[in-house]
Amino acid sequence: MIEDEELLLDVLNSAPRDGGEPMEYLHGQRGVDLARAHGGSGDDAELRCLRIARDGLQDLIRGNEVAVESLQELMSEATMRADVTPSGVEWKLSAPSDVQLAARVLQAWSRVNEHLPGRLRACANTECNLYLIDHTRPGTAKWCSMATCGNRMKARAHAARTRRSGSRN
Ligand SMILES: [Zn+2]
Repeated sequence: MIEDEELLLDVLNSAPRDGGEPMEYLHGQRGVDLARAHGGSGDDAELRCLRIARDGLQDLIRGNEVAVESLQELMSEATMRADVTPSGVEWKLSAPSDVQLAARVLQAWSRVNEHLPGRLRACANTECNLYLIDHTRPGTAKWCSMATCGNRMKARAHAARTRRSGSRN
């Protein structure tokens, strides 16, 4: 598992849509809980940065490259700081406290793209707004979850096939 992969997925999957309008999990107590689970404070400014990171990454994953602009702005004050230790130099992310957690999300996204290219994708159910990182060996995972979208879409495909083939059975 890539560092902060769970944080990345929690943030990407914080606006689920079950057929209707996306819900907002990066808000209120739910947002506070999510941020604190990953070492954040959950205050309003931090949640706002996380929402900017999420919306930008969702756009990029779906092919809308204009989103790099909002992410660049979000990261404008983030730098890497060198910590020299007896065994080498460690580079640590340094960003204003509001931006720190969102910057970790972007770092994790970047690491996933580097180490698992093409494996971060949107669920193939177009009515779903969840994302997955495909760790399967063939790299053919399509659904956020087999239990929900996978079965739902398979049932739909089966129903369509049955309709096309008429009532032969
Ligand atoms: Zn899904």
